[in-house]
Amino acid sequence: METDCLFCRIVAGEIPATVVRETDTTLAFRDIAPKAPVHVLVIPKEHYADVVTLTEADPGLAGDVLGTAAVVAETEGLVADGFRLIFNTGPYGGQEVFHAHAHVLGGEPLGPMLA
Ligand code: C5P
Repeated sequence: METDCLFCRIVAGEIPATVVRETDTTLAFRDIAPKAPVHVLVIPKEHYADVVTLTEADPGLAGDVLGTAAVVAETEGLVADGFRLIFNTGPYGGQEVFHAHAHVLGGEPLGPMLA
């Protein structure tokens, strides 16, 4: 755990979050500032700064994150109509929290990616 990492502190239970799914290795919780009717973040419990670092260090864990994102999409009812899965990465990618996370977004038509 990184003590100054917001998402590590959510994993540790020090900061509240609305958890929608938890596995041995991942946690999924609702984004506090949702950009769509469904907006869930999926993180590895172990700290990695971004999806590249995560995937290079532990591809199995990266797969766990994708697996949890897929289950969340199913349980949130997003699969039939479709949804968006995003890993913002680095400054140009708009990443603000440097603990790897997938955004699961859906529940309405989301429009073009860069509109
Ligand atoms: O990909 P990026 O780093 O920009 O996304 C971070 C996300 O974390 C934001 O969508 C923000 O609303 C969310 N967040 C959260 N709970 C917090 C702090 C940030 O869901 N306590």
